[in-house]
Amino acid sequence: MLVNDEFMKIPFFNYPDLYLSEKDTFLKIFDEICSRGAFILQKEVDEFEKKLSEYSNSKVVGVANATDGLELCWMALSLRPGDEVICSSHTMLATASSIKLNGGIPVPVDINENDFLIDPKSIENAINSRTVGIMPTHLNGRTCNMDPIMKIAKEHKLFVVEDAAQALGSTFRGRHSGTFGNCGAISFYPAKVLGSFGDAGAVLTNDQSTYERIYQLHDHGRNIEGEVISWGRNSRIDNLQAAFINHKFRKYSEVISRRREIANYYHKNLCHVRSLQLPPPPVENGLHFDVYQNYEVLAEKRDDLKDYLSEHGIGTLIQWGGKGVHQWERLGFNSIILPKTENFFNKCIMLPINMSIKDFELDYICQKILKFYS
Ligand SMILES: *Cc1c(COP(=O)(O)O)cnc(C)c1O
Repeated sequence: MLVNDEFMKIPFFNYPDLYLSEKDTFLKIFDEICSRGAFILQKEVDEFEKKLSEYSNSKVVGVANATDGLELCWMALSLRPGDEVICSSHTMLATASSIKLNGGIPVPVDINENDFLIDPKSIENAINSRTVGIMPTHLNGRTCNMDPIMKIAKEHKLFVVEDAAQALGSTFRGRHSGTFGNCGAISFYPAKVLGSFGDAGAVLTNDQSTYERIYQLHDHGRNIEGEVISWGRNSRIDNLQAAFINHKFRKYSEVISRRREIANYYHKNLCHVRSLQLPPPPVENGLHFDVYQNYEVLAEKRDDLKDYLSEHGIGTLIQWGGKGVHQWERLGFNSIILPKTENFFNKCIMLPINMSIKDFELDYICQKILKFYS
């Protein structure tokens, strides 16, 4: 299709479209729930937990957001002051803060150069007598290669808490992201693969006692029968959000297919560009099944590319404000140097990938990128 550049406007993420795409249905859901006065811990939350549990083959607690979920994980595992937990530096601050705010010490380590996820060799090098856990982040909708990570954890008797905020539906060896270690958290933030209309999250675990602990912690220490067992707090998922997610979950496999289709399209059109390093393309029946929360590439002349695409109406984003966890000066990691992560943040940029984007827009984005490098 021939398009006039002046009229092209492709936002990195179209927030209103999340709602407008199915406005009538969402209004109906809102009306039905509110008219019943069903706001907190109602049947929609039960349904949400049951559906997600069947889907991921794990036990599920719906929580207020993934950040709360990760904090609850460490609380449930009784992290103690001074305990060290190894995480990737290429992750959201929420991964590291869940350790820090439970009294632990986050130890950010380097990424691997194949898929930019936590590097198992860096994990091994960071282990000492104070290390109690590993926190892999399944970034951009790709589950880490969990074979070496679980092997290291077993050898050193370490906890594994997975930040699967970006990875609902992603698998490794057929097993769902967030279900390999002690527990893990998923996010339903609006721009995530399955976005709600606000904050929402879930904790996944395969361990019954961890499940019970997290359930109590997220609802004032009460168990499912409502009996007070321990101290707790309020990190419950809103019933309305659960209802919206339940509705969207019905079509989630189509969402995953479309995201993989877009990733495939970018790969086909851009893999010949020498100045770009692309993420692994989608594969059928491989070790990894990726859901492409983001399409993050490494680009030469990254800042110029970003400006050029912006001038042509294409929105892009640099993840985490362009810094790894250890690069935020005020957070106290000043002595840490992670060359691969730092190189990564000089070049990384995310191209639009979402359910609003049309094929002709993808075509336009690729044309512009090819033009920039030609
Ligand atoms: C979005 C995100 C979080 C936080 O999720 P919330 O639901 O917004 O709290 C944590 N970790 C990663 C990797 C994320 O992308």
